[in-house]
Amino acid sequence: MTLPGIGAIKVHDDTRGLRRLLATGRARVLFATVTRRGGRWRISLNVEAADLHPAAQHMRRNDGEESLRVVTAPRALRTAQPVTRRLGKAVSRKVEGSARRRAAVRRLARHHERVRARRHHFLHQVSNALVKTHDRLVIEDLNITGMLANHRLAAAISDAAWGQLARQITYKQTWRGGTVLIADRWLPSSKTCSACGHLVAALTLADRDFVCDGCGHQIDRDLNAAVNLATWGENHYLSQVPDPEARGRATNAHRPEGSGRRTRADETSRDDVGTLTATAP
Ligand SMILES: [Zn+2]
Repeated sequence: MTLPGIGAIKVHDDTRGLRRLLATGRARVLFATVTRRGGRWRISLNVEAADLHPAAQHMRRNDGEESLRVVTAPRALRTAQPVTRRLGKAVSRKVEGSARRRAAVRRLARHHERVRARRHHFLHQVSNALVKTHDRLVIEDLNITGMLANHRLAAAISDAAWGQLARQITYKQTWRGGTVLIADRWLPSSKTCSACGHLVAALTLADRDFVCDGCGHQIDRDLNAAVNLATWGENHYLSQVPDPEARGRATNAHRPEGSGRRTRADETSRDDVGTLTATAP
């Protein structure tokens, strides 16, 4: 990487894919942002790039199978807590203003950065698995229903991470010409029977299974909610895109609130990739 005023610097990540795009004129760097966090420097490039090759976009896959279930966070995240505590204590034991304290603070910051990187890596694995196998994804509004329906996942990776996952799914799906629909936050996805549409009165978080008091259907509660979301997405999608030829390219992804141009290394907003309109392929 060559920066004005600084010169050529080595970077850790593999840049071959990007260089190939730049060399063939299929991408253009708009600007770069240099940041420092947890003792590491990182450079983020804002790139305008061509659409993914059609072969890299995916085929429809709607076979009704549960394709991914994330129940617990990776071990790397669960085991971070004792280390965080130990490093935090080490800081408080050092004399304020001392060189040892500064060193301890740096160690704690590096640790936080590592944990953050692991969490992002995990979220990228989940979002990649989802966008690579589905041309249409429905996600629930995080604030209310998403937290309840996915309480185990939410508890494991925190609500901030949940928002990050939604952002990753949205921009990756845009790259692939797929669709992301955000379900109405008042959609009773957990309380509706996915077999008959009956709305049950009460369902506590302790109930792992949904049992319909209308038709007797019994199903895992998360799977029931997922089926309801898929059905909602199907209806919503069909009502919104009248031209079947245009379906492959329609994107109804809500833009995250307050987002402008994104300059973080792992994230590009849909505006930046410039593939948005619902036109026939
Ligand atoms: Zn039912």
